[in-house]
Amino acid sequence: MRAVVTGGAGFIGANLVEYLVRRGHEVVIIDNLSSGRYEFIRDYVESGEAEFIRADLAEPGDWVKGFERADVVYHLAANPEVKTSIVEPGRHFRDNVLVTFNVLEASRKAGVGSFVFASSSTVYGDADVFPTPEDYEPKEPISVYGGAKLAAEDLVKTWAKVYGLRSLILRFANVVGPKQTHGVIVDFIHKLLKNPRRLEILGDGTQRKSYIHVNDLIAGMERCREYLLRSGKEYEIFNLGNRDWVTVREIADIVVEVMGLRDVEYVYRPATPDGRGWKGDVKFMLLDISKAVELTGWEPSMSSADALRDAARRYLETVRGD
Ligand code: NAD
Repeated sequence: MRAVVTGGAGFIGANLVEYLVRRGHEVVIIDNLSSGRYEFIRDYVESGEAEFIRADLAEPGDWVKGFERADVVYHLAANPEVKTSIVEPGRHFRDNVLVTFNVLEASRKAGVGSFVFASSSTVYGDADVFPTPEDYEPKEPISVYGGAKLAAEDLVKTWAKVYGLRSLILRFANVVGPKQTHGVIVDFIHKLLKNPRRLEILGDGTQRKSYIHVNDLIAGMERCREYLLRSGKEYEIFNLGNRDWVTVREIADIVVEVMGLRDVEYVYRPATPDGRGWKGDVKFMLLDISKAVELTGWEPSMSSADALRDAARRYLETVRGD
């Protein structure tokens, strides 16, 4: 199988590249290294197991040649920072909507077999049904990031209906694990390395969300893709997350425990009167994963807390250079 992974030098992308290479697939990575890191993919590129095209997918270019003969495109390239999307809406439109349009067009013109789009739980906005199923309405994103993902989902659906590009829209919960470069674990560890006595927590600590380990996520992505190909459908939408959720305060406890610290003072910094960490922060998120479980047989192997613990250990090893 020949696979294109856009954003393949990023956190989830680099883990996916490793997974695909290990299974003997031909892999093409396209990334502009804006938040991705070459070191994550260096071994595969230098051994010839993966091809790397450094390119900005928002601009026309020779990168389209990478799509020739591709069986599948995993479209992961995006700006994933919910927080910055409020202050940089144009950048999010460019990297999350325009880039998706360009990648869909390249896939259509190359006659790619199937398309996998990394969407997000943020498309649901402040849902009031938990766990939240795929058909929950109204979908009213509360960040530009979430709005851009929802707009991109509509483009993917349209390319599936109009051009027959068989597509999978996967709405991820918060993803954690090795090669993570952003998110709450990274933030807490850096703060605690600087000052092991005091931890500033964005929000009032009661935000409650669901976390999935990147290995479980990739297993789910592949199960869903196999299902799509079997089903003959034009497109399908799945939530990929966990069955449980944890508070930000509990995450702080996990990180403190993994770092072997004691008596850390927690200082809460709510950005809104209702205790969110930043404007656009969805306070409660738990996805209903029963559709993916029932149709594909997939099941996450680690709880939110176990996934966070593993991610914290791995990140700490990386920063300490163990
Ligand atoms: P990441 O920032 O680590 O990876 C994104 C990659 O895209 C980076 O390598 C970056 O350099 C690349 N990129 C960005 N703009 C580009 C452009 N214009 N041209 C080429 N490359 C570009 O983020 P991630 O956490 O690995 O997320 C991967 C995907 O999953 C994203 O689409 C993200 O929105 C989605 N997602 C992530 C999470 C999560 O918790 N990490 C949750 C829901 C959805």
